[in-house]
Parts: sequence; C-alpha cells; structure tokens
Amino acid sequence: MIPFEKLTAPTRLYINGEYQDAEGGARFDNINPATGESLGQVAKGTATDIDRAVKAARAAFESSTWANLAAADRERLLHRLADMIEHNTDTLAALETYDTGKPFGDARKIDLPLSVQTLRYYAGWPTKLRGETVPVRGPFLTYTIREPIGVIGQIVPWNFPLFMAVMKLAPALAAGNTVVLKPAEQTPLTALYLGQFLAEVGFPPGVVNIVSGMGTEAGEALINHPGVDKIAFTGSTGTGQHIMRQAAGTLKRISLELGGKSPHIIFADADLKAAMRAVGAAIFYNQGEVCIAGSRLFVEKPLYEQALEAATQAAARLKVGDPFAEDTRVGALVSEQHWKRVDEYVKLGVSEGARVVAGGAPADVGGRGYFYQPTVLAGVTNNMRVAQEEIFGPVLAVIPFEDEADLLAQANDSQYGLAAGLWTQNLGKAHRIARALKAGTVYINAYGMMDPAAPFGGYKMSGLGRENGEEGIAMYTEIKTVWTSLK
Ligand code: NAD
Repeated sequence: MIPFEKLTAPTRLYINGEYQDAEGGARFDNINPATGESLGQVAKGTATDIDRAVKAARAAFESSTWANLAAADRERLLHRLADMIEHNTDTLAALETYDTGKPFGDARKIDLPLSVQTLRYYAGWPTKLRGETVPVRGPFLTYTIREPIGVIGQIVPWNFPLFMAVMKLAPALAAGNTVVLKPAEQTPLTALYLGQFLAEVGFPPGVVNIVSGMGTEAGEALINHPGVDKIAFTGSTGTGQHIMRQAAGTLKRISLELGGKSPHIIFADADLKAAMRAVGAAIFYNQGEVCIAGSRLFVEKPLYEQALEAATQAAARLKVGDPFAEDTRVGALVSEQHWKRVDEYVKLGVSEGARVVAGGAPADVGGRGYFYQPTVLAGVTNNMRVAQEEIFGPVLAVIPFEDEADLLAQANDSQYGLAAGLWTQNLGKAHRIARALKAGTVYINAYGMMDPAAPFGGYKMSGLGRENGEEGIAMYTEIKTVWTSLK
C-alpha cells in the first residue's frame, strides 16, 4: 500500500495549463470512505472559476496551435497521454482507491487499463474522421465535413472517476474540441492529476481545463454557461433531466449517460454454474456502484430455488474489507450519505415484503468506514421500489418468472434501459430475447464487458446518445454540408 502522502496529488484547479487556487481560496474536505477521515482539502471551484475555464477553453479552441494542429499530431498527443497514464498505473490506482473506497486490485486491473485502452482507441480516430461526397441533383459538388463542436463541458460521477473522465476526454479531444471537465466532488483526485500529464505531453494551455467543485455550484455554472457548446454528462437520471431542461436556453448539445436497473436473466436451460459466476460479479463488483449492475435477477421458476441459494452463497463468500488488502473483493461505498441511502433501500425492501437472504446490513471493517455487506433480497416483485429504483449498491433483487412472455413483460417494465444479460443454451431464444429487451447493451451468456470500440448508452431514461465506438466520436462533431457550383 502506498501511503497517501507519497502520492503528492495536485488539489488545485487546472485552468489554462496551470494549477490555480479557486476564487477566494475556497476548498472542501475530501473524505476517504474506507476510514471516514479527510484526505485533505481540494479546491472548490466557483462560477467565476468555471467562467475562467470556459474562456480559456474558448481561446484554445480558436487558437491556431489547436485548431490547425494536424490530425496526426492530435493522435500523437492522445497516445502520449495514454503512455503517461499507463506508466503511472500504480499511483493512479492508489489515488482512485483512497478516493472511492474501491479495491486497489480492481482499480489497477480494470479502471486503469480501460482508461488507457479508451485513449488509445480514440487516438486512432483523428486521421479517420472523414466527411462524405453527397450525390445531389444538379451540377454541384456537395460534400460534408465533420467539425468539432467547440467548448465541451464534461461532468462525471464518482464510481470510476478516472475512466469516466477519460471516456469523455478522449473522443472530445480526438474530434478537435476543447474541454472544461468537472469531476465528482467525492472523487476529484485522479482527474486533477491528469493536469500534469496534459502539460507534460504538450496539449496547448486551455485545451483541457479541470475544475473540481460541487455539482450545485461548479456543475450548475458549467451547464448554464452560454460559452459552452455541449454538455456531456454521466450521473443520475435526475441530474440528467435537469441538464436537459437547462440546455434548452442556449440549445446546447447534450449527451447523457444515466442510471440503470438492469435485468440479468437466467432461463431454465442455462448453464447455471457459469451464469451464477457472472451474477455475483454483475452486482457486487465495485460495491454495486456500477451503472450497468445486474441488479434485478430474473430466474425461470424451475431454477429459482437453486439460483437463489447460489446467489446467497456467492454474496456470503465475498470478502468485504480494507480496499488495499489483496483478498478484498468489496471495498467501501463512496460516502456516508450513499451508505445510509443503500441501507435505507434494504430496509424499504423488507417493509415492501422482501426477505433478506444474505447481508442486509453495514459491514464492520475495523469499526470505521462506509462498508456494506453484499445483500440478496428474495421474494421481490418487479413492482416494488427496490426493483424499480436504482440503489447503486451491493443489493440484488431476485425475481421469478414463468415463461418468455412473462419475463419480457417484467424485464422491460422499468423506466431504465441501460443493459441486460441473459443466460440460455438455446441460440434462437437468446437472439429473440436480445431483440425484445429494451436496453442499450445486451449480454448473451456473459455480463458486464466494456470496450472502447463497442457503443454504450441507454434506452429510455438511461440516457441520450452513445459513447464509445464511432458513435462516441460522432457526437462530438457537427456536420457541415458544402455545396459547390460546377458551372
Ligand atoms: P449525480 O448526478 O448527483 O452526480 C454526477 C455528477 O454531476 C457529479 O460530478 C456532480 O457534481 C454533478 N452534478 C450534480 N448536480 C449537478 C447540477 N445541478 N448541475 C451540474 N452538475 C451536477 O450522480 P451521483 O448520484 O453522484 O452518481 C451516481 C449516478 O450516476 C447513478 O445514478 C448512476 O447510475 C449514474 N452513472 C451512470 C453511468 C452511465 O454510464 N450510464 C455511469 C456511472 C454512473
């Protein structure tokens, strides 16, 4: 374990290529959720700081050093940024662990490689981002150009702080935009750390600005700033709806990655052993603080008791503990507030008639920190609040179903539509159900994979737009159509 003091994490705003204090020296306490103690104070960006950052981003967008930079040179910068992150994997993973409470092993093996892969994937795009010639009527040469949108405000959550930041930065920069990034107040450290790398690899000042602070202050200022052309947001559905309303004023472009309550489905003909291995990871990995968590487990009736027993055992087996201990599988929840909310949901489930068959209470890890036991609720019906609302913690609701029709009616009966998983050995059924599920991602005999090449996003109230893949960069561009007379 690397002592926190050794990590020398920057805690000031990164604006116009320099670390700076927030207006008036405002700062806030950054809590380590595994201990409940402060890791120190971090700059608390205000509306004035956001304004400075937006102006720096605008100036950079219009400066020739960025606007005229060859696409191949943008690629080089992105690859160099990926190299810096890769070379600093241990430091960044440790910072992520201190900030989020997630197991260090997971941060190292999952968050960091995903961040690097995403940067490398989008580093390949600048030289491939092409327009088209259009076969119009008349004597014209008509073609399209893909142009950057301008200044992008990016707001990210606390569950995968670095990866979420990179998932937003990489396509926006590849397309030639400039950015003001606001990390979540619970987890500002790894995003702020990026400032050093950005400067070192040679991004011109102002191309990326990072302003830590509160959602209701810095975030609010960013979404309302008239100098911001687009907001890219990942977070709760409620905040997403608010952003959509606010964006109407200046018709800002928006893309939203929001909540989920994803169905994970086991048919009676599934390979139950393989399915159950995935079921545990799908809900308990990252303490259940995963937007695509398989939080509703639907089991076809003949297998229900067996699957429930397996889920119960899987939950009980997982070691909850010090995020830096090697055998820890479940770390701390991100904050005291979130920890209490998860516990309230479990109590609500019980009051709605659900039965706790595993966990169901905070976990004691040295008498401190915000740990929660992996929890399984049986006797859940899909109309209960614990089956409809996103808990975003290690809580699995197990629900039986009769047949395909019953399954589809229940699985699709949700305001969300982010992901779904299904287990069956019948190929035709697998694809039939995959088509019928209203979700942006469907896993067949698998669950939870993410790849920068594979589009990702939500149906219904899980979001707007798709990140990753070609769609992920297209949404950071405007298309310009040019008509040229051939007369
Ligand atoms: P949240 O919406 O409160 O916060 C997310 C971010 O928005 C933070 O940076 C926060 O500071 C900022 N914010 C909050 N209020 C704001 C406002 N009024 N104006 C501007 N910015 C504001 O979400 P949370 O509860 O902290 O995060 C968990 C949620 O994120 C879950 O619901 C989860 O599903 C969702 N999430 C979704 C995905 C996805 O890809 N779909 C990924 C991770 C998390």
